[in-house]
This record gives sequence, structure tokens and C-alpha cells, in this order.
Amino acid sequence: MAINTEAYARLKSKLDSTGVTLVAVSKTKSEEDILALYNLGQRDFGENYVQELVKKQESLPKDIRWHFIGHLQSNKVKLIAPFVYLIHGVDSIKLLETINKEGEKNSRKIKCLLQVHIAKEETKFGFDLIEARQAITHVFVETSFSNVELCGLMGMASFTANQEEVRKELSSLKSLHEEIQHRVDVDKNSFSIVSMGMSGDYELAIDEGSTLIRVGSLLFGARG
Ligand SMILES: *Cc1c(COP(=O)(O)O)cnc(C)c1O
Repeated sequence: MAINTEAYARLKSKLDSTGVTLVAVSKTKSEEDILALYNLGQRDFGENYVQELVKKQESLPKDIRWHFIGHLQSNKVKLIAPFVYLIHGVDSIKLLETINKEGEKNSRKIKCLLQVHIAKEETKFGFDLIEARQAITHVFVETSFSNVELCGLMGMASFTANQEEVRKELSSLKSLHEEIQHRVDVDKNSFSIVSMGMSGDYELAIDEGSTLIRVGSLLFGARG
């Protein structure tokens, strides 16, 4: 399966004027395909599975910024803690505590996003809006995680053809992010990422204020 270089070029030129970051989601895709995109200048890649990410990180160029976008189990944090660039799917305080501990062991501060459940579907992981506010208070006010940097929020909209529903969900994540940014206890500059938008809804997501999109199948083709 070859990568879609035209789609990449089109997407990059569109993003250039917006300042939105592109994470190329390479889960299940070959190292050869990742290298092809790397050779076009892409440096941010996203993976969902720990073992697969570790294997790819070992053999691919060291200046790749690896984003972990899947559901992360606490007992696997140690495997990615030495090198991961940004963990998108933090969905519990317990997980954040583990990441902090592993960050300390590796003498680094690990960038994280809280995953917020914005979709109607029951199966997607994440805090709901109320829990997310409480988690933010916990992180910024009640504790000091010295080896975690909380950089923003991540969400996934419902998988539906109903554009208005998708727009509403994406907009709810942006609103929550803005609300949190206005709090005195939150550092606006470091809490700056809104990770939302995939192959099917990235245009809507950019419209609604995304700062980082995670795009897979559009660039790499459908997953088998
Ligand atoms: C797989 C995945 C993506 C990319 O999805 P595409 O529809 O292939 O662009 C984005 N975000 C998350 C969390 C994913 O699991």
C-alpha cells in the first residue's frame, strides 16, 4: 500500500495558513510507508498500540515525534515513557499519576492531554465534561505533578454522517478548552492544545478551533 502523496501535499498546504499541527496516524501501517511520509518532511506520527509503537520507535529515525493516541494501560506506561512526545488519551487521574512516576524515573516531563468524551457513543473512553473540570482542578490546584505537563484536551466526535451533531460535539470540546484556559490557576500558554479531527471530520474540526488533527486513512489508505 503506497501513501497518498497528493492528499498529503493538499493537506499540508491547507494547514500552512492555519497553524494547525498534523499528526499522521500510522497505526497498523508499515515502517516503509512511515518513512515515505517522513521523507516528505512529516515528523509527527500517531500510534494506538504500545508494542507496535515501541518497535517502530526503535527502528525509525530518532527525530520523529511519537504521539500515543490510543487507550493507555497503566502497566504499559513505562514502555513509552523514555521517548513519547505527547500522550493524547489520558482518561484517569490514576493514569496521570503513573505517567508522572515514569516521567520522574526517566528525568523528563511528559506532555499529556486529557481525553474528553464528547461523542454520543458509549464505547469511547474519556472524562465527561464535569469530570474533566474536576480533573483539571486536581492537576493544577491540589497536586503538583512535576513530571507531567498537561497541554490541553483531546476528543473524538461520533462516527455519523450527521454533520451538525459532529460540529456540536467538536464545538463542546473547544468551549471546554476555552473555559479552562480562562481560569487563573491554568497556564494559558502551556495548556494550548485542542486535539480533534480525523480523516472524516478534520475540516469541521479546524472550523471549530482544533489546533491539532490526527489523520490516518486519508494519508495511508484504509486500514485492512
Ligand atoms: C485511528 C485514529 C485516528 C485516525 O483515524 P482516520 O479516520 O484513519 O483518520 C485518529 N484518532 C484516533 C484516536 C484514532 O484511533
